[in-house]
Amino acid sequence: MQFKEVQIPEGDLIGYENGELVIGDRPIIGVLRGDGIGLDITPTMKNVVDRAVQKAYGGKRQIVWTPLFAGLEGLHHYGSEFPDETVEAIRYLRIAIKGPFTTPIGEETHVCLHCAHQQYHAGACDKCGKDDGVTDRFRSINVRFRQHLDLFACVRPVRYFEGVPSPNKYADKVNFVIFRENTEDVYAGHDFEKGSDTALAIIDLIKEKTGRQIRLDSGIGVKPISVFGTERIVRKALQWAKDQGLPSVTLVHKGNIMKFTEGSFTKWGYELAEREFGDVIISEKKLWDELNGKMPEGKILVKDRIADSIFQQIQTRPDEYSVFALPNLNGDYLSDAAAALVGGLGLGPGANMSDDVALFEATHGTAPKYTGLDKVNPGSLILSAVMMLNHMKWNEAADLVVNGLGRSIFEGHVTYDLARLMKGEGRTDVTEVSCSGFGEAIIARM
Ligand code: NAD
Repeated sequence: MQFKEVQIPEGDLIGYENGELVIGDRPIIGVLRGDGIGLDITPTMKNVVDRAVQKAYGGKRQIVWTPLFAGLEGLHHYGSEFPDETVEAIRYLRIAIKGPFTTPIGEETHVCLHCAHQQYHAGACDKCGKDDGVTDRFRSINVRFRQHLDLFACVRPVRYFEGVPSPNKYADKVNFVIFRENTEDVYAGHDFEKGSDTALAIIDLIKEKTGRQIRLDSGIGVKPISVFGTERIVRKALQWAKDQGLPSVTLVHKGNIMKFTEGSFTKWGYELAEREFGDVIISEKKLWDELNGKMPEGKILVKDRIADSIFQQIQTRPDEYSVFALPNLNGDYLSDAAAALVGGLGLGPGANMSDDVALFEATHGTAPKYTGLDKVNPGSLILSAVMMLNHMKWNEAADLVVNGLGRSIFEGHVTYDLARLMKGEGRTDVTEVSCSGFGEAIIARM
């Protein structure tokens, strides 16, 4: 394929055959630096990953990074913060990893992609003075990547690293991966203002069909949950559990209240699990009805929990859970609550995936005031790269990074954010390191 700005280097294009990625020893992977502190964390992440791959496979394997451009870099290369070519290149390469991108949030007409300042005119930025970063306001780059590439699964691993101050007594038992459906539910955009034609028409229709009256001064949201949407997220969660050798997948829902949306999510999820993963899964019902509670070795337990109870369970018995699959809204809540359990810092990794494309990402923002200072914590992006290595089944390299990062934190070689918290907890052996220094500390401890 021919691109204008993207240079595809020598290496192995990632293939997709019979529902599986085909990954050579020198896979070509897209990397989007991101705005703001993307400048600092992205090179550090690449350095850590390259060294882990080198150490794990002794030069037999190597990632061939390909720069792709969006945000400020998109503006400079293409005159657009969200270039079509970048979307096409991610689709073509199938795996990419990205730093954070500026998202305009206020009402101003323009935003600076250097410092995220918003203003009412083009030209130079009123805050940082740079004249090559101000552009018209736009919709979230992150959301558009998800929509354009149909990245239906938002994947968030949550795990504890010893030494990170955490509010939870059982934080050390937290190690799970959350698969949140990304395209349906009340987030699908069917949200109608009070008094609008559509809201009133829906109220009328419901009255006519069911005899039930909704207050006329109501806003109306529609919550679609489909067989298609459910099956593809549950399949992804099950496949992850199978590939990574994890013991359970839990379907989380409010089916006790919303029978035909959340309840159906669970029903269709179990049916899919039986149909496509019957040889590797045991449902909780079968476990108790037929196996007397004795879980056969090597099988994946598929269970379900009501959403409100899971918010208690992740705090009181987190070690009973390893993979979650949820509809969109509950998935959003659970991802953030779970991140808080383990200290919630800039360490949480994430990815958005379709069947054959995966975009790994730092979950924090661009923290513009720290741009270029080599100061911030690169942990979120590094752990997203760990997910990427797991996704590629390069688990040996992934484990090296996790070990290095875990030891670095345990020994108190951390960036300012963690250093401040650890010192606040009374630790006296903390060495504050820079962003790249944290990368080196991880490498030294792999
Ligand atoms: P932010 O996450 O950029 O920063 C908030 C604060 O968190 C920072 O001031 C800093 O103290 C801390 N912080 C963030 N990342 C850190 C790291 N890696 N290490 C240490 N400390 C860190 O949130 P914000 O200031 O609200 O947003 C800035 C810009 O980023 C906005 O344009 C926003 O829309 C965008 N944003 C992007 C994403 C994304 O691309 N995924 C996510 C959130 C916000």
